[in-house]
Amino acid sequence: MSGVFCGGCGEGDLAPDPGGRGSRPVVCDLCGWTADAAVLPRKWLDEDARPWTKRERKKAGRLFFLWIDLDPEDDGAVGDIMKILGLSGMSISDRTLLELETRPTESTLRKLGELRGVTRVWLAP
Ligand SMILES: [Zn+2]
Repeated sequence: MSGVFCGGCGEGDLAPDPGGRGSRPVVCDLCGWTADAAVLPRKWLDEDARPWTKRERKKAGRLFFLWIDLDPEDDGAVGDIMKILGLSGMSISDRTLLELETRPTESTLRKLGELRGVTRVWLAP
């Protein structure tokens, strides 16, 4: 889909996502962000060719996209998430995308998933 960029990582290509939600479901091939292309604002239109640094870094194993779903009623896990991942800050929403330079281990993922207020944790494929 030319001209429309991912709202998650900002660099991925949006590919059709059969089975996704909406009338034209799409998924980012880079970070796994999903959306309905039929209602996507066009604000991600980009006239210049972007340097595809994130794609290259992901391919090289130096960038990982970690998704965390938080209970909208309970953001108490945020401090623990930052501590576990060694982050100094993160922006919060019900569905949070974090860009990590090292791959979180299975035990890290499990710890994150067990935090109160975290409903789901997964790495983009
Ligand atoms: Zn993306």
